[in-house]
Amino acid sequence: MKTCPKFTFGVGDRFAHGAHAQLQAFIAAKELGIDICPTWNKSNREHDIIGSEPQSTRDAADKAVADLTWEGEYLLDADHINLTTVDRFVAPCNFFTLDVADDIGAAADPADIEAFIQKHPELIGSISIEGIEKPLEISRDLVKQTADQFLKATQKARAIYDHIVSAKGGIDDFVTEISMDETDKPQVPAEMLIILAAIADQGIPIQTIAPKFTGRFNKGVDYVGDVAQFEQEFNDDLSVLAHAIKTYGLPESLKLSVHSGSDKFSIYEPIKKAIARTGAGLHIKTAGTNWLEEVIGLATAGGDGLELAKEIYAKALEKKEALCEPYATVIDIDHSKLPPIEEVNGWSSEQYVSALTHDQSNPGYNPNFRQLLHVGFKIAAQMGDRYLDALKANEEIISQCVTNNLLERHMKPLFAQE
Ligand SMILES: [Zn+2]
Repeated sequence: MKTCPKFTFGVGDRFAHGAHAQLQAFIAAKELGIDICPTWNKSNREHDIIGSEPQSTRDAADKAVADLTWEGEYLLDADHINLTTVDRFVAPCNFFTLDVADDIGAAADPADIEAFIQKHPELIGSISIEGIEKPLEISRDLVKQTADQFLKATQKARAIYDHIVSAKGGIDDFVTEISMDETDKPQVPAEMLIILAAIADQGIPIQTIAPKFTGRFNKGVDYVGDVAQFEQEFNDDLSVLAHAIKTYGLPESLKLSVHSGSDKFSIYEPIKKAIARTGAGLHIKTAGTNWLEEVIGLATAGGDGLELAKEIYAKALEKKEALCEPYATVIDIDHSKLPPIEEVNGWSSEQYVSALTHDQSNPGYNPNFRQLLHVGFKIAAQMGDRYLDALKANEEIISQCVTNNLLERHMKPLFAQE
């Protein structure tokens, strides 16, 4: 097993042009004493939509690391892969996010469920967990229900893990994450404990786990939900993880992973407090926000850049149903509040940038506009070289946007100690 650094920070480089600007943010953070490991992640879905290969993300990252002489560790995440999609990620990646969402709720063999319950009498009853005020009350029924929901998914995770080990030639020198975030129902701490016991039974050296938390984690916009409840749940999950490490022999480096983590400004303070208090690690993914910074950079540049940004919106609006469909669980767009094309075509740079930039104090900010563009990267992919040439022509201004967004709006609020 490759030991995962304590703090890993996922960035997305959809068009393989942003790695240098992203790495600059990590370098600047390091100078401020914030030690976080860059983790380039791009999901199978994103590769499919763009028509790219995982090796291109690796190449861009390697080049940035060499050019900027980054001497720290860095990781390449095969994000949300499963047994049918993992193969092309095996060679370029050293972090694998096993997505078992499709198997949540799928029936496991009843004999396996019964065996799991028999094996874990310690899960039933009143369970005191250090850091959680009241003991977790877990009935046999809850263990059975949770096993019904998740046991099959953990078995599937084992199959994917084994497949990666054998495809890598029997070497386990990668980080394993299990993600359950792209599902309908949040997992409460008691379920988390039962799931971790099942993962330990499967012998998967899991180092990060992405639960679905309460509240909405919509792409590129702030958390929607009860912040106090999130804080409680996040802290309880940390306690459950620490307990599971001791009880089930899971890796010491096991930590929580927050997916769709960009722009969740209202929960950064609770997360920061929780990791400072407990000494826990964290993995956070912020991938899609980088592509939006490219569009913001183009719009800021004005001229052809602004025209291209308008064209991207016009096409995204035309194809909004198809673009939104794969992201239904992670966006909330009020279609009546999407500005008409004619209106956007009349916008200045400042108006476009105001609408797109996530600044809740700016009356021009439009989260519906932002979310549609967030899922609209396919439009830029279809523009091919026209889009890539625009990125090159406006590289300086875009790089500033990308670096600044990561450093000032994400890394510092999450990790900087006052
Ligand atoms: Zn996810």
